[in-house]
Amino acid sequence: MSAPNIETIVSLSKRRGFVFPSSDIYGGLGSSWDYGGLGVELANNIKSAWWRWLVYERDDIEGLDSSIIQNRLVWKYSGHEDTFSDPLVDCRNCHGRFRTDKLQDVQCPNHPSVHAGESRECDFTEPRQFNLMFKTTIGAAAVEDDESALAYLRPETAQGIFIDFNNVLNTSRKKLPFGIAQIGKSFRNEVTPGNFIFRTREFEQMEMEYFVRPEDAAEIHQFWIDAFYEWFQTLGISAENLKLYEQTGDELAHYAVRTVDILYRYFPERADQEKQWDELMGIANRTDFDLKTHSKKPEDREGKRLNSDSTDDLSYFDEQTKQRFYPFVIEPAAGVNRTLLAILMDAYTEKTNDKGETRVILKLKPELAPIKVAVLPLAKNKPEIVAMAKQIKKDLQPSMRAVYDDTGGIGKLYARQDEIGTPFCVTVDHESLEDNAVTVRDRDSWEQERVNVSELKDYLQKRLR
Ligand code: ATP
Repeated sequence: MSAPNIETIVSLSKRRGFVFPSSDIYGGLGSSWDYGGLGVELANNIKSAWWRWLVYERDDIEGLDSSIIQNRLVWKYSGHEDTFSDPLVDCRNCHGRFRTDKLQDVQCPNHPSVHAGESRECDFTEPRQFNLMFKTTIGAAAVEDDESALAYLRPETAQGIFIDFNNVLNTSRKKLPFGIAQIGKSFRNEVTPGNFIFRTREFEQMEMEYFVRPEDAAEIHQFWIDAFYEWFQTLGISAENLKLYEQTGDELAHYAVRTVDILYRYFPERADQEKQWDELMGIANRTDFDLKTHSKKPEDREGKRLNSDSTDDLSYFDEQTKQRFYPFVIEPAAGVNRTLLAILMDAYTEKTNDKGETRVILKLKPELAPIKVAVLPLAKNKPEIVAMAKQIKKDLQPSMRAVYDDTGGIGKLYARQDEIGTPFCVTVDHESLEDNAVTVRDRDSWEQERVNVSELKDYLQKRLR
């Protein structure tokens, strides 16, 4: 079982402190969300899993953290100033503004039972292109229309990687094929944000640019498509809620020769099967476009420099063949927030207890669970039990994220931990004072086992693995 719809996760998130609507006390801000205590832990665990898998467990990928605000010329030569736009229409009737290719994601403001464009009253203008980059100005003296002070918040992390290609190459001494990985915030002034954290104007990306010889690009591209499809399953997302989508010719970005998206079933409630899916990540073969466009050397057919501003050449010299060329780039680009949403939806289950009550269990992989173990005193009015439970929490904390909780009866405390995905609860009772043992309860089976306190850390670590 997984969540029946995104709304279920929205309410769980708010109730339990994963994600809150941002600026709530001032009426909110459309698509902005804040990550609470559990949400920030879950996001950090997702990012660590990605980083560990790519940067630590392989020998051919370097990490990077580039600036959010970069020289405007980056976005001129990357093509974003001219082409990073979405088609937009206005409705003359309701005065709503919509992204033409995503009408199915928004309701008609006047008739919420149908999507925008589906009511007979909808009266759209001709589509026009709207650039998604957020503008800002640099420097204290800057005035708003001062062109020389214009800068953008990055709409993707990738360009920071391309412009640092030589810095990384020269300092890491990597040889092709190799990759550069980066996690960070990106900003897009989306026409129609929505569906909770699925589409927001401020979001986080996990992008890796893998540089290859042109002749190896197609095969390595396929390798990363398969690798990421499997990786999401190692995070606990079930295969039946994942699928691959091959972008068609007119969907491809101007620089890409092939792009495959990994889709997740974010909208299981939709009757039309095809509309249940949307993009979790994209994996593109970007050819040599990026390194070439940021290089000072390449010329067009008339011998004119393509880039008259760059001071460096981002080509690669192959020691073996003594050839110089521009590597192709394979880009697996995933969103942290969309991954988090897919993981929450997929982990969501309900179970009925012996009193006939429905309980929510978040079956998160232990690696991702915000809290690994909750230590609970059976009687909070008994100082020896409380002291023992607090000491156990303190002893476990250096090895795993542990919490102490005594704010309810034991049944309520268990239910709360199940709902936030804590794999284990440890209960200290009257007997514990005599036999130095505690009860360990498993989140998924609700089975309980007695474990000696001296063996508790090893026991939990083994089971968390
Ligand atoms: P879409 O077609 O949904 O607008 P995209 O194809 O423009 O997405 P990419 O440019 O390929 O997205 O970005 C890579 C990843 O970054 C996406 O697969 C998604 O996970 C994430 N992402 C992109 N835009 C947003 C957004 N507005 N909010 C949240 N995540 C996003």
